[in-house]
Amino acid sequence: MQKTTTKLADGRELIYFDAAEGPTDRSSIDLRPLEATTALSEVRRDPVTGDHVTVAAHRQGRTYHPPADECPLCPSRDGRSSEIPASDYEVVVFENRFPSLALGAAAEVEPDATPLRELAAGVGRCEVVCFTAEHQASFADLSEGRARLVLDAWTDRTAELSALPGVEQVYCFENRGAEIGVTLAHSHGQIYAFPFVTPRTVKMTARAEEHRAATGRNLSEDLLAAELADPVRVVLRGEHWTAFVPFAARWPYEVHLYPNRRVADLTGLTEPERAEFPGIYLELLRRFDRLFDGAAPTPYIAAWHQAPARHRTELALHLELFTIRRTVGKLKFLAGVESGMDAFINDVSPESAARRLREVAT
Ligand SMILES: [Zn+2]
Repeated sequence: MQKTTTKLADGRELIYFDAAEGPTDRSSIDLRPLEATTALSEVRRDPVTGDHVTVAAHRQGRTYHPPADECPLCPSRDGRSSEIPASDYEVVVFENRFPSLALGAAAEVEPDATPLRELAAGVGRCEVVCFTAEHQASFADLSEGRARLVLDAWTDRTAELSALPGVEQVYCFENRGAEIGVTLAHSHGQIYAFPFVTPRTVKMTARAEEHRAATGRNLSEDLLAAELADPVRVVLRGEHWTAFVPFAARWPYEVHLYPNRRVADLTGLTEPERAEFPGIYLELLRRFDRLFDGAAPTPYIAAWHQAPARHRTELALHLELFTIRRTVGKLKFLAGVESGMDAFINDVSPESAARRLREVAT
């Protein structure tokens, strides 16, 4: 893999990841007259739940459903300049122009430790990951080689962002489909470097610590062993990875993909584990697209869970992939019970979801 770091016109970093070793010309310059944006993000702590909430009121002017010929994620071609100055690319990562979190927020926001009014600058970084220069292609259309290059880019970003001052957790994810709220049709993912541990990870860490205290063992290792011992919810098994529908799945179709050997984050994967990942993950995404006969591509969220900087002993790297589609033409909305109380009601049994995900194997 070859990595070339450059700057956009407003000073944001843009990084090309190329699979080929050897010279690749990545010297194209961003010719747009862009002014640097100011990030006024704040992170407030909810005094009632303890959860952190990011307030990023400067983002209202961000790009919203642009037409295809104004796509900011296509390469710069035919006299039109996009976010990517090169006329072609493999995988590109760049700083979001409208970030929820930014290192510059430290200079703009005054921290406050007043009881019940805990507030800090939204220090962190938000990056966009472009998987392909093809406007129409989705992740499931990528070759194994390209998916591997994306994995290498995620890993590189995890290592680099984890080392930034104040960053507590690095989160790589993909939102796919307008139903999820995606505002750019060109397939892409995002990476958030949070200055706090996210609420879901706080909960998961507490559960893992309780399990360790009660049993002396690691929760993720016990969980994976239990799913494999009675594989009714196992969807796909490789030499190094296992995918299963969780026992208490929240979403109609939800799959968790774990490396068989527990590691804290993407940087801990060995070469054989990295080599097997693309085939397994692409197969899962293609099965998701075959779940609903004749329907438009399945909207999904793919979320990498990585151990935060300060809780590396118990949490295991894994990917959670889920769709909000229940059946053709019907979405699962987060309404009163879920949004009001965080109490999920799932209309599809996890065991039948797993059966269906095995049926639609390639
Ligand atoms: Zn595009």
